[in-house]
Amino acid sequence: MKKIAVSACLLGESCRYDGTDNRNDLLLSLLEGNEIVPFCPEDFAFGTPRPTMDLVKQEDRIRAISNESRKDLSDPVIAYAQTFFESHPDIDLFIGKDRSPSCGVCTARCYDAQKHLISDSEAGLMAKEAQKRGIETYDAQRYVANYQRKG
Ligand code: SF4
Repeated sequence: MKKIAVSACLLGESCRYDGTDNRNDLLLSLLEGNEIVPFCPEDFAFGTPRPTMDLVKQEDRIRAISNESRKDLSDPVIAYAQTFFESHPDIDLFIGKDRSPSCGVCTARCYDAQKHLISDSEAGLMAKEAQKRGIETYDAQRYVANYQRKG
């Protein structure tokens, strides 16, 4: 049995910015028998519903910027992620919602200051914290696709 950290919206929690979820029944069936630890940095930090944010490259670093206020929202997301992984030092696997600026593993979009798309293969801020700790990370879509390929 593995201990797997999973974006809460994939498990059916209504914690997306607009109060909906991204429930993925196939993923849930693949994860059966493992210990699941849900997380949602944005719901914890900003509540639900909330304005959206995007990753923006600023010199040599990538930050999460609110699409409404243009404020830098990175610090609360990173702080949540650090506390999460400190509280769960034995996580075997991280499965994040693809394309999320917090949870996407290698599918998050990143823009320059003028809002031009410069990458669609970034890691979100929480996924990055998992990767720093050497945890195996997957976008949910990729995890399910790997299983389908094998099947
Ligand atoms: S993608 Fe991550 S931050 Fe966004 S709703 Fe899902 S768990 Fe929360």
